[in-house]
Order: sequence, then structure tokens, then C-alpha cells
Amino acid sequence: MEITKVGSRGELFTFYDIGIATNVYVIYGQRHVYIIDTYLGPEVMQRINEHIEKVAGNKSKVIINTHSHWDHIWGNCIYASDLIIAYKRCRELIEEEGLAELEKYRQYEKGKVQIVYPNMTFTDKIYFEEDSIMLYYTPGHTDDCISVIDKTDKVLYAGDNIESPIPYLSSIHLDKYVDTLKEYLNKEVDIVIGGHTGIEDKRLVEENLEYVSKVLKDEVIEISSKEFEENHKVNLDFIKNCTKAQ
Ligand SMILES: [Zn+2]
Repeated sequence: MEITKVGSRGELFTFYDIGIATNVYVIYGQRHVYIIDTYLGPEVMQRINEHIEKVAGNKSKVIINTHSHWDHIWGNCIYASDLIIAYKRCRELIEEEGLAELEKYRQYEKGKVQIVYPNMTFTDKIYFEEDSIMLYYTPGHTDDCISVIDKTDKVLYAGDNIESPIPYLSSIHLDKYVDTLKEYLNKEVDIVIGGHTGIEDKRLVEENLEYVSKVLKDEVIEISSKEFEENHKVNLDFIKNCTKAQ
């Protein structure tokens, strides 16, 4: 477990169990402690909780799921009595696919995972006034993605919408993805963090925007690394399968 301080009140917890860096982001607000994504299970989140309690005592916790994918929600089970917030469709997707994903990827579970659903959902935005923290709907990587903005520290947590060198496409609504990335560039933030990135800035948003726009318009894409090539191939296969299914 790597812990990196971000701004005046953020901490990024990074893990490497699934072959790529995966993050949990914690914001220590005045009113609540916000825990964004819950990674692979109770064992890891318990360690994060112990750390949080050392820093903030027993302050109430607000859990946020950026999207429904298994690598971001399995630790929900230790927060069943707290608020767990997500986009409305995120809860539905966990209801539809959560158990199957748990069966499929069970080798990665950290502690005994039970699928626990978000217990508060929204469709547009939520603003925590006393902590200057905004959650809002940002479709992209998937149709149920939300992002979190810490207005005090000017940090955008973009979930899997931002990834280096390129994001994985898990939705065919690339026009919406482009809109989300463009809109990120207009936000007053200095630091950008994704579910699998380090601490980045808007340059990565611009690069991801260029990539997704080119895929959308079917333009020639310059392959800049082996990783880029591999991820791009996965994306093209995803799009091909979706178009075939239509
Ligand atoms: Zn992910």
C-alpha cells in the first residue's frame, strides 16, 4: 500500500494486485471523510480505515463508487452502514453483473467479499456544501461513470475516464466520452487523478481526448508504445463486438 499526499487534504492509496496500479482516493473534509472507490475487498479497506482513523478519528465516512466495475467496489461490504453513493445506473449494473464479476475475478478478492450496493444514487450532481466537494455525472469509460471535484484543493478525481497512455473503452457512446473530457478541460482544477493513474494534470486529459476523438471519427492513430498498441487493440475489439451485436 503506497500512500501519496495530494494537496492540503487528500491521500492517494495505490495498489498493484491486478497488474496495473489501482487507486483509492481519500479526502479529509471538515464534515466527512470521503473514500472514493473501495478496491478489491474488506481486508485492504480495513487497513485504509485504520489509517483514516489515526488521521481523522471517528469522523463520519462517505463512500463513493466511481463506476460499477469489480476493481472499484468490492470493499463496499465493510461500509454497509455508511452512505455509499453512485450514479443510479451504477447500482443497477452492480445488481445485474456484480455476482458474475465476483465469480469471474474471485482470484483477486482481498478478504471475503460480499456484493454491497450503493445505498444513495443520483443522476446529475451532488454538492457537499460544507466540504466543497462535488460529485457529478461524467459518462465515458462506462455509461455509469461519475467524477469528484475537490474545489478547495482543485483536484479532479476522474475514475477510469482518464488513463495512461489511453483509456479502456467500455461504452460505445464515444460522443458522450468526448464531451466529458472536453468539459474536464474547462473545470478549474490543477490536479487530475484516475482510477489507475498517478497524480496527473490536464495534459493527460488532452491526450485521452485526442485518442477518443480519433477513435470516434475513425481517424488514423499513431501508436506510441507497446502498451498503447495492446490497449488500443482491446478497444477496437470491444467496438467491433458492440457493432456486431447491434
Ligand atoms: Zn478500473
